[in-house]
Amino acid sequence: MVNIIINKKFYSVPSNWTVYQACFFYGFIVPRFCFHERIIVAGNCRICLVEVKGSPKLEVSCTKQVISNISIITDSPSIFKAQEIVLEFILKSHPLDCPVCDQGGACDLQNYSSQFGSNKSRFFEEKPTVKIKSWGVLINTIMTRCISCTRCTRFSLEYIENKFLGMVGRGNSSEISIFQQRLIRSIFSGNLVDLCPVGAFSSKFFKQKCFLVL
Ligand code: SF4
Repeated sequence: MVNIIINKKFYSVPSNWTVYQACFFYGFIVPRFCFHERIIVAGNCRICLVEVKGSPKLEVSCTKQVISNISIITDSPSIFKAQEIVLEFILKSHPLDCPVCDQGGACDLQNYSSQFGSNKSRFFEEKPTVKIKSWGVLINTIMTRCISCTRCTRFSLEYIENKFLGMVGRGNSSEISIFQQRLIRSIFSGNLVDLCPVGAFSSKFFKQKCFLVL
């Protein structure tokens, strides 16, 4: 165990925890998209920023390991400004279709946008779109909603042993896709619906049941 300081209060946590895990355990709100406790850490969404005393810049809390007497701040004006900028960048390529999205009401992006985002839009350009494709028997995809957190690719590598899901293209044209048209056949692929922090995946079975009831 090591002693750490979060927002000027002392706590004790296991030495192999990350700063994000310590903040989460003690109830400090730090937003995250790419981090998931059951899959390997990527640190690519850059929204879980915190201040660490002695560090010249904000730190990504999900990749930073705690050390003895580390002093962490989670609620300074510079952190809120940085989180607002990250959200603005993510929303640059995310459609504002919350009223018709399957994830609406249970969406991390929706929640964090209302909590940490700006109330003004500076974006008037056309947003990138991605064609709807079939990926397998269990999941529907609307990849235009994807925020490139890569949770699905890391999960498929670790648990489904599927090496055909990844990021293709570059810059504005980059998208999560399957390679060589290999459909995801694993029964665990249904977990991607829950794992995705936005509504890029939905369950084929759930939709079919809804149609049967109607
Ligand atoms: S589809 Fe969902 S889980 Fe996969 S990268 Fe995009 S937002 Fe993340």
